[in-house]
This record gives sequence, C-alpha cells and structure tokens, in this order.
Amino acid sequence: MKRLRIAVQKSGRLSEISLELLKECGIDVKNGRAQLVASASNFPLDILYLRDDDIPQYVEDGVADLGILGENVVVESRANIDIIKRLDFGRCRLSLAVPKAVDYQGLEYFQDRKVATSYPNILNDYLSANGITSEVHVISGSVEIAPNIGLADAICDIVSTGSTLLSNGLKEVESIFRSEAVLVSRKGLDTEGANILQKLLFRLDSVRAAKSNKYVVLNAPNDSIEAITQVLPGMKSPTVVPLATEGWSAIHSVLNEEKFWDIIDDLKAAGAQGILVVPIEKMII
Ligand code: ATP
Ligand code: ZN
Repeated sequence: MKRLRIAVQKSGRLSEISLELLKECGIDVKNGRAQLVASASNFPLDILYLRDDDIPQYVEDGVADLGILGENVVVESRANIDIIKRLDFGRCRLSLAVPKAVDYQGLEYFQDRKVATSYPNILNDYLSANGITSEVHVISGSVEIAPNIGLADAICDIVSTGSTLLSNGLKEVESIFRSEAVLVSRKGLDTEGANILQKLLFRLDSVRAAKSNKYVVLNAPNDSIEAITQVLPGMKSPTVVPLATEGWSAIHSVLNEEKFWDIIDDLKAAGAQGILVVPIEKMII
C-alpha cells in the first residue's frame, strides 16, 4: 500500500508539538528521532526528521510529500508548495526593531538604513510594498545583536514575547508578518496520495474540533429544560435523561470553548445546577 512521507522539525520549537499532533490523530510513531526516517505503524505515513529550513525544498522536490513547519519559513523559501492547513500552534510574528533610544516616527526611518535579518525575502517584499529601500544584510543566527556590534541600524526578526529584544536594547516598531505552524504539501499528489492526505486532514479536523469544544453535563428541574435547551447550541439537540429524583433531568451537550463563560452564566440563570465541563478527546463532525 502506498505511504506518504511527512517532514517535521528534527529538534526545535515545533518538533515535540508536531509529533504530539500526529499522536492525537491516532498515528503511532515508534522509532525516536535518532533515525532520519520513522514509520507510523497504524497509518500509511513515514516521518522524516529535518531542519525546518530544509523542509520547503524537500517537499518541493518530492523527497517528502507533506511537511509541518512555520509559515514564515515557507513564505521566505519561495518554494512552489501548497499550504494545506493552519495548525494553531507555533504562533509568532516577524517584526522590525530599532535601538531603544531611536525616536521612531515611521517606516521612513528604514530608508537607506542597514537592516539585519534572516528573512530577506519577506522583508524586501514588505519594504518595497511600502516604497522603502533599505540595505538588507542577511545573517543566519543571533540577529538581535547586530545593532550592538555596529553591523546594522535595525533588525527584522521573529518575536513572540519581545524579551530577547528588550535584553538587547531594542524595541519592536513594526510587525510585518504573522505566522503559525502549517501543514504543507507538494504539488501533484496522485489519487492514492491525495486519499491519504484527506484521511489525515479529517483526523486533524476532529482533533481541532475536540480541542475547541467541551462536553457539558448539568442537572435541572424539568420545568427549566426548555429554557436551558434554548441556551445550549449542542451538535444537534441536547440529550435529556431523567434523574432518579422525581422532576429532575440531566442534560448533556457540547459547547464551544469561546462561548463557554457567557453560556455558563445563562445556564445558571435558567436553573441549571451541578454543571460539569469535560474535555473531549475526538469529535467527528
Ligand atoms: P532548525 O534547527 O530546525 O533550523 P530553528 O532554530 O530555525 O531550527 P526554531 O527556533 O526551533 O527554529 O523555530 C522554529 C519555528 O518556530 C520558527 O520558524 C517559527 O515559525 C516558530 N516560532 C514560534 N515562536 C517562536 C519564537 N519565539 N522564536 C522563534 N521561532 C518561533
Ligand atoms: Zn531553522
């Protein structure tokens, strides 16, 4: 039977969580990361462990069929591959930062100035879209020290909390690109390959749906059931089960996490008691 190969980051911020996500999809990967390739025992997928920067090229060339990596790396690579799905983790932004002492008034600051970055393509696109020309210097690591050692007037780098910038005497002044981890695919998967990808996507959707929903169980006097079911959206309609105590029922439903607190208040107001909120492991929609 045909198998697909998925490239994930070998070691770094995305590696653990990428494997965890596959595991939540019920895909068992036995061998550790000591080897370059590992096989899933219960799903037609092989895992290829790579540096994240190498993933776009490997996927474009078809050495891997799929990949999990930061969108920042995908866009910077300019590889001819498809972004199939945003994965809701590894969020960060690419920002321009200048020394704290600079009285920053706007993007004109960067005109003809030296900017150090590991993301020359994304930066140049942004600058030219805004009519600015800078001297872009490409450095591969520790970009944030460039201004201190006189190598640049500013930097463009990944920021998540900003503490690295602060400790290097820099301040963030423009955020130019927002990123999260994405699932990518090579062009031209055959029918069998596309079927395996569909199966994987279906599982990813079920895991995602489960994470953003809660299972809610509550007790209510029978004359409150109608008011309570009005408040509960549920997947279809809620399940109502009589309790041993005469005149009372248990109501079971599924709630979206975002609406959660608002609805809990409404439920209490409608007469709900003993509200239990339980995580859902998988949700098939
Ligand atoms: P590799 O050895 O695979 O080349 P790396 O050093 O390039 O690893 P990591 O630092 O592990 O990469 O980051 C991987 C990805 O994690 C980034 O490309 C980005 O998409 C995402 N990310 C999320 N938050 C941050 C952050 N605070 N700093 C850097 N990257 C982050
Ligand atoms: Zn990297």
